[in-house]
Amino acid sequence: MRFKSLADLKRQKPKEVTLATLPQEVSMTHYAKEKAFKISELVREIHEESYEWYGFTIADKENPELITDIGLPQNDQNLLEYAAIGPARIAEYHDSLSEDTIINGWIHSHGALQYMHFSHTDEENQATVLDFVTARLRKTVAKKEIPIQDLQLLVKDEFEEKELEEGSVSLITDAVVSEAILMETIYGGFSYSIVIGDEGWHEQEIHYQERSVISGHSHVSKKSADLVLIDNGRSLTQADIIVLSKEVAEKIQPNTNPPTELIERM
Ligand SMILES: [Zn+2]
Repeated sequence: MRFKSLADLKRQKPKEVTLATLPQEVSMTHYAKEKAFKISELVREIHEESYEWYGFTIADKENPELITDIGLPQNDQNLLEYAAIGPARIAEYHDSLSEDTIINGWIHSHGALQYMHFSHTDEENQATVLDFVTARLRKTVAKKEIPIQDLQLLVKDEFEEKELEEGSVSLITDAVVSEAILMETIYGGFSYSIVIGDEGWHEQEIHYQERSVISGHSHVSKKSADLVLIDNGRSLTQADIIVLSKEVAEKIQPNTNPPTELIERM
């Protein structure tokens, strides 16, 4: 049995229902921002020069849109490697985090450079971080109709195999139906990207990834975003700074080669 309605042929825009939104601004606690600039300050103090460094932005699993901390991984001495953050490097840091926290982006410093933008190298890193983060932080953002031309509706146990030669998609139901709309889930994810400079400037971007479950459609986009500071009661204490000093001494390696990003800009 096969039904074909005229509505199928006339149907215009695919139906789409938005179910959730992704962040449009970068939310960060005062503590996290203070910590980021403190790392730059400590790099200058401890290593006596304004080396560039990178870290990950950290959030609580139950509130993944708010950056509550900055995670400092081992920064490579070889800045060629620094320039390329590989998935393995992110995964390694992710595994060191406590169960209730997650990585929701990355942050890096351009040190004393007056380059207040994201470089081409940064773009590549952002793609890597986005892939990693969205694999863990995706949510259903929409249901979208898959427009099917020539949908074949069949009733279970009431058709012959030969009938399957017709139609582009066959939907087999246990009762007679005359119309069907197929809507697929669209998963969406985001990751934050922040670049800061010694003089106190900062720039932010949010990168988005959407992926459709059935059609396999995938879309990546980005936007410049404002930084919204949130007070969660925590501030950087003297004890925090002592711990951070140790981390900066161990994890940031002075480098005598010019960073690749620097070469890129020259
Ligand atoms: Zn950069």
